[in-house]
Amino acid sequence: MQKIDRNMLHLHPTVRELCKTLQEELDERSHPGRLFEGFRSLDRQAELYAQGRTRPGHIVTHTRPGRSIHNYGLAIDMVLFINGKWSWQENGGLWEEMGTIGSSIGFTWGGTWSSFPDRPHFQWMGGLTINDLQNGKFPETDDQEWLNFINFQLTTRLVRKKNTKKILKELGYYDGEIDGIIDNETKKAIKKFQQAEELEDDGIVGPVTWHSLLEKAEETGIELFT
Ligand SMILES: [Zn+2]
Repeated sequence: MQKIDRNMLHLHPTVRELCKTLQEELDERSHPGRLFEGFRSLDRQAELYAQGRTRPGHIVTHTRPGRSIHNYGLAIDMVLFINGKWSWQENGGLWEEMGTIGSSIGFTWGGTWSSFPDRPHFQWMGGLTINDLQNGKFPETDDQEWLNFINFQLTTRLVRKKNTKKILKELGYYDGEIDGIIDNETKKAIKKFQQAEELEDDGIVGPVTWHSLLEKAEETGIELFT
């Protein structure tokens, strides 16, 4: 199972700020609510969705990969942390208190949803819908580092690998098959590209190299796999 992500930098800058404010408000009241999970990768969403369906365990989510607001860094789950342990138990109005504070600062609180109330869940979508997000729109931000991160995350691995090879081939760094396999020849080509672009030449396509590859593809009009 993929790890739970509590890295605030993986959240959209506005959500990051809201999360910080909510935490400060809770701390001031000695409320035990804490960030349990923020951004969630498509891989982790797929694993959670499989649980209770194609894998053992209880069903924990009705949301497929790409349909969760967490997949876009626009949602957080806040859970009670009591005596060194996470607790999802009813606790004398603590969930409602957290929901009220979250709503007052600008979050939408999942505890008010009529079909599946989701009390730990807070989200902010900047006026967009889930379909907007799936079509590649994000709430505006000039935080390029976050945009690189989220674009990288939302491209499936296979598509990313195939496009990496296609772009490297068209740019003249690589001369083999275009498939989903990153072999030694591909790694060498990635390194050559990174050196030419003055990036860290680790031979791995992370968010920065991916962004750079996409820029080159756009500049030179390379058509990509989707
Ligand atoms: Zn949630």
